[in-house]
Amino acid sequence: MRSRMRIQALRPEFVELIPDVLEPGVLYVSIAYATASHLCACGCGHKVVTPIGPTDWRLTWDGESITLYPSVGNWGLPCRSHYWVREGTVEWAGTWSQSRIDAARKHDRVTKRQYFSRARRSRIGKTE
Ligand SMILES: [Zn+2]
Repeated sequence: MRSRMRIQALRPEFVELIPDVLEPGVLYVSIAYATASHLCACGCGHKVVTPIGPTDWRLTWDGESITLYPSVGNWGLPCRSHYWVREGTVEWAGTWSQSRIDAARKHDRVTKRQYFSRARRSRIGKTE
């Protein structure tokens, strides 16, 4: 079995549109579309999309490197890789069990629902 080349670092590239073909080791960032994309750091070649938003990922650029928050969990991919991108460096995180993945997905749905209902309320001028 051939071992895959893991990606250790991701350097940012700011683009208007995320290209169709991504280069390994590059984190493409589109401010216009509030999204970032990179090839899975495990080396499987799958494209990973991380939308940027209050209920999605937060992206910090220090002028050189990028930090993504929270971690990138590719539960939908066959590799199921899970890692952090901190200051452009890929830090591997543990593999999650199915129940932990389910709990995280549920938490994500609840957070999104709360956020969007709050946003709706503030649009119609009601405050809590
Ligand atoms: Zn992968």
